[in-house]
Amino acid sequence: MKTAVCVLGAGRMGSSIARTFLSRGYETWVWNRTPAKCEPLAPQGAQIAPSVADGIQAADVVIINVIDYAASATLLKHDSLHSVLPGKTVVQLTSGSPRLAREEAAWVEAHGASYLDGAIMATPDFIGRPEAALLYSGPRKVFEEHRGLLSALGGGTTYVGDVPGQASALDTALLTQMWGGLFGALQGMAVVEAENLNLEIFRNQLTAFKPVVDAALYNLIDRTRAQRFSGDETTLASLGAHYSAFQHLLEACEEQGLDASLPQAMDRFFRQGLSQGGPESDLAALAPLFR
Ligand code: NAD
Repeated sequence: MKTAVCVLGAGRMGSSIARTFLSRGYETWVWNRTPAKCEPLAPQGAQIAPSVADGIQAADVVIINVIDYAASATLLKHDSLHSVLPGKTVVQLTSGSPRLAREEAAWVEAHGASYLDGAIMATPDFIGRPEAALLYSGPRKVFEEHRGLLSALGGGTTYVGDVPGQASALDTALLTQMWGGLFGALQGMAVVEAENLNLEIFRNQLTAFKPVVDAALYNLIDRTRAQRFSGDETTLASLGAHYSAFQHLLEACEEQGLDASLPQAMDRFFRQGLSQGGPESDLAALAPLFR
């Protein structure tokens, strides 16, 4: 017998999750605050639950995917669920913080159910595909028990650790790295356009530069892990060399009247790192300043 699953929330992501389970032959129940959003799933075989309690009762695994934890709390923290939650597994796929994950894990477990907290590193169109990464934290035993079902949602289904907030912490860290790159691109486009270059050449050269940037990124992480902050023969570019090149960004902002808020924040870290470790340090010497 395949696991029966209930998806609470039939927004963009919840609908894609439900469709994926249906396409893999899982008995799938759906519930949404506005029932009309569930209707397109019915022809594909979804059973529409008249209430949250009915959906939970019918399923072994309950996937929650609503807009935020506050919305999720209005669904879960309801007296009608006390009798249906014991023995179920609740998988929270709503985006949230580590603190919210910890609190919800405690609440769900106190009500007799198992809990996994998940983070979806993909858009709805990627759900079910090999490239989709979904991160989970919580008891390993619970993850292993449902690995088959959860893996249906993406080839990159990964167990992160047993502390409930760890999946969402990793989610935030990965997004932070993405935002760093995206904000860098916003600043870079302003520099390019100020010198009458078009964005197409910027875009094309980013592709050519990407392997170099990726190598520097992984080198930074590896050196930080090993706490190798002093410059040595494997340092790709010293802190002093980075800072010398970085002056050109400060100059461009000054000369062209560009917003310099982001470079000024970076400048503060460079100066602090240089005053503590000197110009021969590795860029990784900046890592302790963020802790
Ligand atoms: P959406 O706006 O399409 O859907 C939101 C869902 O939340 C709807 O089903 C809506 O009915 C429900 N909802 C809102 N307020 C509610 C309330 N008070 N009570 C009950 N239900 C309520 O959003 P989405 O894109 O499907 O995102 C859902 C979750 O998935 C979010 O936490 C989002 O951060 C996360 N997520 C989305 C993406 C993405 O690319 N769309 C990627 C990763 C994670």
